[in-house]
Amino acid sequence: MNVELICVGTELLLGSIVNTNAAYLAEKCAALGLSCYFQTVVGDNEERLSQVLRTAMERADIVILSGGLGPTEDDLTKETVAKVCGRKMELHEPSKKAIEKFFADKESQATDNNWKQAMLPEGSLVLENHNGTAPGIILETGDAKLILLPGPPGELQPMFEEGVVPYLAELTSQAICSQTVKICGVGESRAETMVKDMIEKQTNPTIATYARPGEVHIRVTANAGDRKTAAKLIKPIVKELKNRFGNYIYTTDVNTTLEKSVADLAKANGLTITCAESCTGGLLSARLVNIPGISDIYKSGVVTYSNKAKRRFLGVKKSTLQKYGAVSEKTAEEMAKGASVMLKADVAAAVTGIAGPEGGTPEKPVGLVYIACHVKGKTTVREYRFFGNRSQIRESAVSAALSLMRECILVYYSKVTFGKGES
Ligand code: ATP
Repeated sequence: MNVELICVGTELLLGSIVNTNAAYLAEKCAALGLSCYFQTVVGDNEERLSQVLRTAMERADIVILSGGLGPTEDDLTKETVAKVCGRKMELHEPSKKAIEKFFADKESQATDNNWKQAMLPEGSLVLENHNGTAPGIILETGDAKLILLPGPPGELQPMFEEGVVPYLAELTSQAICSQTVKICGVGESRAETMVKDMIEKQTNPTIATYARPGEVHIRVTANAGDRKTAAKLIKPIVKELKNRFGNYIYTTDVNTTLEKSVADLAKANGLTITCAESCTGGLLSARLVNIPGISDIYKSGVVTYSNKAKRRFLGVKKSTLQKYGAVSEKTAEEMAKGASVMLKADVAAAVTGIAGPEGGTPEKPVGLVYIACHVKGKTTVREYRFFGNRSQIRESAVSAALSLMRECILVYYSKVTFGKGES
């Protein structure tokens, strides 16, 4: 089977951006055993794109297009593909919902032209975009199979790994095997540096890192003639990642979440857990309560937003609040201790911070968050600086709190040691 690449974008023709998508896609296709004889760059122009597409469809089995799926007038890849293939454009409801959710999560509003991204050629197989708003598309026509991907590499690459690789593997009767190593407590840039040499050397298996709020996921993917051989290829790479990241790896099971790993640890040690939250306003409890069966170990938690509430429900000292302020190491410590006593739990996490956009000062800027975990009479407190908008800061704080709970349970109950992590 052969594949042809078409990268769409006037910026590429002008040299304003380097065509890294072509290099990425070509390398991945070669690893899947697909031959690539032609690659084209074409500007945001309907006539010239149609011409290039028709030629590609005549000579290739698979045509992969990148770029031009955005919301603006000059993003015309989908519309051009639909015209060339004689398909109507129709609204894809799940994509519309995904766009709504994307903006709600970012606490911003979709503009009218964003809905254009939910209009897809009829008969499209849709590839979800977990990192942006433009869905990807697979369109099977009599001449060739067309795969349309968004331009930004941060959207294109995860979509390719998650949706396109399994599709192409089936077409080429290659077996694909992948494993995801999930890491918490190590920042994204540090994690990337730690595997840079492995990524540079990669061929088959391939190694890709993805940042998630407060976590880093490393996906190792191998392909071979059969599943057993592909799985065998993955093993030494995962072993090496375990050597490098040690206890910062919380799972290698794609379905296990960070909160689930905390709950499983608590259960295994017969511990109850609780949370006292200020700036996260219940988000930490909500993440835990999402786990079925959590009631065995989570009995109650509190949101103590005002100073008064911190004193009343957690016994934080008035003098502590006056001397150090509500967002301080000492307050976090007393919140965690207080929660463990008042709510009678073995493990108590507390979060206090400045989520912004207002309320920051030069000494205590927006994004400053203190997280404490009280376990076995000892309280560990960490200071964090998170970036982003209010909701991103709160989300990062929740992941950091889960990561600290996990670390404290492992240190105090399982006598596990941690290397130099990153808060
Ligand atoms: P969006 O949804 O962001 O509008 P899109 O699918 O319409 O994405 P483009 O508008 O073509 O994609 O490109 C958006 C950005 O993605 C570019 O400004 C550039 O930063 C990056 N990009 C696009 N094509 C490529 C490419 N071939 N190689 C590397 N980066 C690219």
